[in-house]
Amino acid sequence: MTSHDTELSPAERGRRHALASLARLAATGAAAPFVASLAATTAFAQTGAPAPSGAPATPGPPPRPAPQPGTRVVMLGTHGGPGIERDRAQTSSALVVDGVPYLVDCGYGSLRQLVLSTIGYQQLDAIFFTHLHDDHTSDLPALLSLQWTGGAKKTPTEVYGPNGTARLVDAALGFLRVNAEIRTVDEGRTVDPATLFHGHDVAASAAPIRVLADERVTVTAVESAHYPPHSTERMPHRALSYRFDTKGRSVVFTGDTAYSEKVVGLAKGVDLFVCEVMAQSVYDSNMARAKEAEAAGNPVSIARHVAETHSTPADVGRMAAKAKVKTVVLYHLLPGPRAPGGLDYAITNFTDGVRAAGFAGEVVVSQDLMVL
Ligand SMILES: [Zn+2]
Ligand SMILES: [Zn+2]
Repeated sequence: MTSHDTELSPAERGRRHALASLARLAATGAAAPFVASLAATTAFAQTGAPAPSGAPATPGPPPRPAPQPGTRVVMLGTHGGPGIERDRAQTSSALVVDGVPYLVDCGYGSLRQLVLSTIGYQQLDAIFFTHLHDDHTSDLPALLSLQWTGGAKKTPTEVYGPNGTARLVDAALGFLRVNAEIRTVDEGRTVDPATLFHGHDVAASAAPIRVLADERVTVTAVESAHYPPHSTERMPHRALSYRFDTKGRSVVFTGDTAYSEKVVGLAKGVDLFVCEVMAQSVYDSNMARAKEAEAAGNPVSIARHVAETHSTPADVGRMAAKAKVKTVVLYHLLPGPRAPGGLDYAITNFTDGVRAAGFAGEVVVSQDLMVL
């Protein structure tokens, strides 16, 4: 924030920040018409009800533009893990097909990123959870609650994810219930939230299984390698990677995973391989701490979890090369930045490791609100 900014009202600061974000998106070139189209759509959606006939003339909503054709990926939140930082939201991405958004994960901060990206949240009908760690789910109660309170939603929101997803949606409905009771009595609301929000548990499979197919996209999933066997044998919880195939493009979101042959199988020949990454130094330091903890009698430590269940740049490169993907997009970056807006190490620490493992294609280290 500059000293000039401190003289501005909070609302004006927020408006300028949003405009700056849009300018950053527009600066990505090919994304510019897409962003302009989304902005117009959002402006229409937020204009509210038309004035009753006979009321003084007020500016009406702009004509709704035709949806921008094609498939884009919007990186909403790229922070890795449960920490909260200023310049990267927790994990969330959107696939937008012919103007229709599909959300993958919904960590803390993603609702605000949906607004800043101009995708918005009222019209969102499909959410896919890679797994149910809270850095991938925390904004779900806020998202569903505010979709209901917004009052404009006519179609249900379907939430897909591994075992426990239906329970999570039920819990979000529980969170929303008191708000709904108040507004139903006090504002004459008539929609029962339970009719709007549905959770679906998806089986974790070794071979890709179909999760959803509509006129725009086919979504398939496999089990990823985020929970080791000594954990999965003692709990029903699993993690998933998703593949989206549209008319012109194919995209895999790995979610959190260590190296996985199942993920390689899912990602065969994909255009965009959106893959989590942990710097080699993070792996090394956590492995050392895990060994210390084990020597002290604790074989199941947080350090062991971090080291065993994420991918080093070499792991990403090996998966990408074997699957023959076209472009690697790194997200869920571990560690996060030490200074606002940056990483505490060179980006080449990630990209060199991916290439050294044999991947010769393009490698993108993603940032929040990047459009691909
Ligand atoms: Zn995570
Ligand atoms: Zn996780």
